[in-house]
Amino acid sequence: MNAIEQIHELREQLAQLRQERTKEGRLPTVGFVPTMGYLHEGHASLMRAAKEQCDIVVLSIFVNPIQFGPNEDLDKYPRDAERDLALAERLGVDLVFLPTVDTMYPSPTKTKVNVKEVTTLLCGARRPGHFDGVTTVVSKLFNIVQPDYAFFGMKDAQQVAVIQQMVEDLNFPVTIVPCPIIREEDGLALSSRNVYLSEQQRQEALVLSQSLFQVDTWMQSGEVTTVSELRARIVQHIETSPQADIDYVEILSFPQLTELDASTSLHAHRGQAIIALAVRFGTTRLIDNRIL
Ligand code: AMP
Repeated sequence: MNAIEQIHELREQLAQLRQERTKEGRLPTVGFVPTMGYLHEGHASLMRAAKEQCDIVVLSIFVNPIQFGPNEDLDKYPRDAERDLALAERLGVDLVFLPTVDTMYPSPTKTKVNVKEVTTLLCGARRPGHFDGVTTVVSKLFNIVQPDYAFFGMKDAQQVAVIQQMVEDLNFPVTIVPCPIIREEDGLALSSRNVYLSEQQRQEALVLSQSLFQVDTWMQSGEVTTVSELRARIVQHIETSPQADIDYVEILSFPQLTELDASTSLHAHRGQAIIALAVRFGTTRLIDNRIL
């Protein structure tokens, strides 16, 4: 399978596919999966969902420099275009857009898309400018691909909330489809960044998923009843790992991402709250979350 590097080429090939797959006057639907590549089963699940729901599937692979901070891992972000293309082909993806930085940003962009409020907490607070970079590149990609549906993983739950807000505010004619988090058998959420972990860190990183899964047990036994008790219990569990350095442990409303009254009963927030974690192991920062 060939990757398409130029915007005009993608538009031409997509227009041709749209024409070929028009049946009895009914236009085919286009599903879009934006990624930064180094694909794993989490990305594959988005492509499968797109394949199931849409007539044409477009994948993009672009490590977007403007969403990385000055001291982040842009330069060492893992890449393997050949393997990614083989996986996309196996999954029946129709077109893979793999632009260069010059194609996406021929000159420094003077326009940024900025979503307020939902970007100020969690990763937005720790990674200044990150979500402006994400919303700007996703806007560009939406304008290039013009999909009917776009598939995003709940692994990046704040990103889903931010993109949904942007689509609503700017009237993008696209439906956002959030997809569940895919995990390793032992619970670790799949991430392209997991390759940075040493064997010991990989083992200790299980405290994230473990603490999310143990919430039910802690609630059922009555060990935790309020938002603040649950937060403290999760912190305690994560701190059993010597290498874990907590960036945040937060329990917020979802998808609004507003603070919850710490003393309220957890049961009052069922289905409407998110437990969001960011923890560093050495220089690797992992995130995970779960809807309560
Ligand atoms: P990335 O390449 O990390 O930018 O991710 C591209 C898309 O894949 C985003 O919508 C992510 O939320 C999604 N994704 C990454 N990891 C997972 C996972 N473990 N499960 C489900 N979706 C994922």
